[in-house]
Amino acid sequence: MTIYLNGEFMPIEEAKISVLDRGFIFGDGVYEVIPVYSRRAFRLTEHLRRLQHSLDGIRLANPHSDGVWASIINELIARHEAQDQYLYLHITRGVAKRDHAFPNPPVGPTVFMMSNPLLIAPADQLHNGVACITAPDNRWLRCDIKAIALLPNVLLRQIAVDAGCAETILIRSGSNNESSFMTEGAASNIFVVKSGKLFAPPKDNLMLPGITYDVILEIAVANGIPHEVRKIGVAEVFAADELLLTSSTKEVLAITQLDGKPVGTGKPGAMFARLHKLYQDFKRDVMRQNNQ
Ligand code: PMP
Repeated sequence: MTIYLNGEFMPIEEAKISVLDRGFIFGDGVYEVIPVYSRRAFRLTEHLRRLQHSLDGIRLANPHSDGVWASIINELIARHEAQDQYLYLHITRGVAKRDHAFPNPPVGPTVFMMSNPLLIAPADQLHNGVACITAPDNRWLRCDIKAIALLPNVLLRQIAVDAGCAETILIRSGSNNESSFMTEGAASNIFVVKSGKLFAPPKDNLMLPGITYDVILEIAVANGIPHEVRKIGVAEVFAADELLLTSSTKEVLAITQLDGKPVGTGKPGAMFARLHKLYQDFKRDVMRQNNQ
């Protein structure tokens, strides 16, 4: 497998970074995951915009223009065989003597990229949906930054795995009079469907602004699907007709069980079927335009 590290393409076995890299020592860095369909990066502009937001959030200069990022990404795609891939892009504050404060003068960042084949969700998950479990959202208050420091997300996802579930749905306790509300999954965004309407939590500091989340809302607008973006109380999650999970690698999945109880009928519902199909159409249209 060929990876990209600091300006060079090389076999993964030859890639080396210092143990003093601030990504290793402090988790001081940000990342992106970009799906590639038919050898084209999907929604690249949007992913690079979110990368800039994450870099701004940790006060790290973007080492490349969007044009340079695009050429590195395209070169990495070209060096892999799979038609559909997912790219992992990772930038840290670089290598310096261990000290919490930023290196002064700044050192160059470490830039790493790899690609793996993108595997679509198994047929069983598409037909039957997935089981999820809820857990308190105990992460920091800048979940809008796609930080490589993912220990809370790792521990939260493991709660799901230990319970035989696909994902953990995170619940923030409200302040004072505010009741608890749903933020997102450990590595996905979550939508609620009630009485034919799609509800999405607002993109604020408590969740990652998912690229797939945006696509779903764009699809809702374009197809006249009733929808509303607002805080979603925990009771609404448990009273949902349908729950949907989205991410770049999972696309759209129905959540058919929550904390051991069926969601709605316990089967993927009408909104899932509609959005899943529209998502596939959307992808196909984007790829067709790209190839013209
Ligand atoms: N929230 C979190 C915490 C994530 O890690 C991810 C991505 N894995 C998402 C949401 C979904 O974002 P995207 O649609 O851009 O993959």
